[in-house]
Parts: sequence; C-alpha cells; structure tokens
Amino acid sequence: MMEKARNTMIARCHLKESETVRQWIVPRCPWCGKRHVHGAGRIEDNPLDYLGHRTAHCHDGSFHDYVLVAID
Ligand SMILES: [Zn+2]
Repeated sequence: MMEKARNTMIARCHLKESETVRQWIVPRCPWCGKRHVHGAGRIEDNPLDYLGHRTAHCHDGSFHDYVLVAID
C-alpha cells in the first residue's frame, strides 16, 4: 500500500439492500460531490466487513480514496 501524506477523507454512506446483493451508497463523495456505489457483499456476508478504506469511483482523471463510514 502506498503511503499518503495527506489526511484521510471520510465518506459517509448508507446500506442499500436488494434480494441478492448489498451496496454501500455514498450520496455525496467528499472528493467530487457525486454519488458512488460500493459493493457490500452478498446477503450472507456481513456488510460491515466492506466498510473502511476504498478507492473512490470518481471519473475526473485522478485517483482518490476514502474511508467508508456508515451513517447510523
Ligand atoms: Zn467521487
């Protein structure tokens, strides 16, 4: 893993469930302000295992990352 000098960004997210999959929805990305969706595993998985450090899905030509934190 690359060392990062800057501060870690926090992305607040909420869980969206369907019949077969779960997703963490980031309504407002701290980098680009847009909505991003991250996989939260299958129904039998613990979605909390899928929080934490993730790569942001921004499409502005550069790579960002953040830490997913669930909104209560
Ligand atoms: Zn973004």
